[in-house]
Amino acid sequence: AIPVLCMDGPTASGKGTLAAVLAEQLGYHFLDSGSLYRITGLAATRAGISLDVANQQRIADLLRGLPIRFEGSHILLDGEDVSDAIRTEEAGMNASRVSAFPMVREALVDFQRSFRKLPGLVADGRDMGTIIFPKAPLKVFLTASAACRAERRYKQLISKGIPATLDSLRADLEARDARDTSRSVAPLKPAVDAKLLDNSDLTVQASVEIVLDWWQG
Ligand code: C5P
Repeated sequence: AIPVLCMDGPTASGKGTLAAVLAEQLGYHFLDSGSLYRITGLAATRAGISLDVANQQRIADLLRGLPIRFEGSHILLDGEDVSDAIRTEEAGMNASRVSAFPMVREALVDFQRSFRKLPGLVADGRDMGTIIFPKAPLKVFLTASAACRAERRYKQLISKGIPATLDSLRADLEARDARDTSRSVAPLKPAVDAKLLDNSDLTVQASVEIVLDWWQG
């Protein structure tokens, strides 16, 4: 079987960074599943479809025809590099909205599974271990305190010259967590056989070593 390492957890828990480093070190493919929900929100908004559950069929149909391509760390939508456009707080909130629509989630299942190719895959998201790759040999559920996550996001944005305040970032991420954990489809929660890792006080390198130990163990 082609091995899959799942990395799930809440917003800004550091799973994107950790998953990317692990993929690099293992020489595996990488799936950033959150980017697919972000692109969905962006594409629907651009098509003038309001992100309302009543429109979920239209959004899912739009999604099925979307030419999404990954080139290294860049994401192309119909040839246009949308890597930056999907990283804003607003895009994150819109992603969280469309990700609660069952038809949207369903439309993305096969596409996500198609990333499972030799020699292996590191999959980053909310439901990688619970829904998309339930048989994966290692499922990590990464957490960090809300204060710590807000602080990391703050530094990220400021370093890119994007204005931000700690309080509003923390409020945003708590709102997004609340939506992600309370939705009826694929709520954010650890798989029953997931290993929990709180990285509030860990460096990226320390987290990498812990996960690699689990992977090789
Ligand atoms: O991880 P990221 O912040 O890019 O994800 C954006 C949003 O997409 C999350 O807040 C969540 O609502 C949704 N998402 C999801 N399932 C995934 C990945 C992301 O519902 N596997």
